[in-house]
Amino acid sequence: MRILEIREKTIPLGGHLRNAVVSFNDHTVSLVALLSDQIRGGKPVIGFAFNSIGRFGQAGIINERLSERVINADELLDQEGHLSPSLVATAAMKNEKPGGHGDRSGAVAAIELATWDLKAKLRDEPAYATIASAFQRSLSAASTSVYAAGGYYYPGDSIELLKTELREYLDQGYTAFKIKIGGASLDHDMHRIESALEIAGNSRALAVDANGRFDLKQALNYAKVIRHLNLRWFEEPGDPLDFQLNRLLIDEYQAPIATGENLFSRIDSLNLMRFGGMRPDIDVFQMDPGLSYGLTEYAGILTDLETAGFNRRQCRPHGGHLINLHIAVGLELGGCEAYPGVFQPFGGYSDACRVQEGWVTAPSAPGFGLETKSELTHHLKELRGD
Ligand code: MG
Repeated sequence: MRILEIREKTIPLGGHLRNAVVSFNDHTVSLVALLSDQIRGGKPVIGFAFNSIGRFGQAGIINERLSERVINADELLDQEGHLSPSLVATAAMKNEKPGGHGDRSGAVAAIELATWDLKAKLRDEPAYATIASAFQRSLSAASTSVYAAGGYYYPGDSIELLKTELREYLDQGYTAFKIKIGGASLDHDMHRIESALEIAGNSRALAVDANGRFDLKQALNYAKVIRHLNLRWFEEPGDPLDFQLNRLLIDEYQAPIATGENLFSRIDSLNLMRFGGMRPDIDVFQMDPGLSYGLTEYAGILTDLETAGFNRRQCRPHGGHLINLHIAVGLELGGCEAYPGVFQPFGGYSDACRVQEGWVTAPSAPGFGLETKSELTHHLKELRGD
């Protein structure tokens, strides 16, 4: 089989949100289509995927460098003659130097992940089944633990708005939540946290995310004030590559820390394990396959984690969307996040997914099931050329 063409569409994210560091108003996502020469039901089989949420599309890198390399590659099939996501990623990286993992890692990821969608569709099964089989997982369930990530700083930000938002998540079946901190004064953030706790019911149901905003002194200040709450976790307190800050903060804070969404490669993740002070069975790893070269690279990260004594259940990838849901289910990770109602057309899940008592069930449609998400329908149609 061959990949005939790769199409990309850069799509803006809906919503007017901000965290402590960025506004999402001008963020975009690259939706990618891999057109194969395989025909099912009289139509070519197409693999779809995107990089992730909260960054930018990579039309330039995909169109000017990666697509041609993949289409012209001599060998994209494994020994059994099946399309190999690993070989697709290798082809996309031809003539690229190591290191400097920036937007390139998301561009490669979009193509590599679309390969998984294509593979699953050729097997006529949901992507989590294809993933579980490829990585020899037992696949005990089609569902995984999920929490609602929200609590952004909206224009006209108010405590009442935050409480209403979390109440809506409760009504939708979520039992755990994450809110942003670091975008206001410590006093105001404490007010936000205390108000959110009223809705969440207990501190283990509420995580806070500083989006890498703090230097060590600021992180320690927040840690001192929130430590007694023993929250679900304190996410990205400082610069994601400042492993020393992470380690020193963990020494003081003691309660769970989460980080990793801005580490875009296996080696960056390995350095977090080596130098960041992360603790087995306590802290949370959030590396996101869609930002870090795709699932092949992510599987390597899991190997490193388990070799270093961590548990894959400590992994909850950044990016609340269908692709990471399938990955969390297929690889038996600790769970995934969701951005209900925001970051459309990519955020949250489709009507085919059931959220119940803090668990979400992946759709049974072939592939990642992006076709089951109505917000994506016209974009997929456009890429298909219907
Ligand atoms: Mg985060």
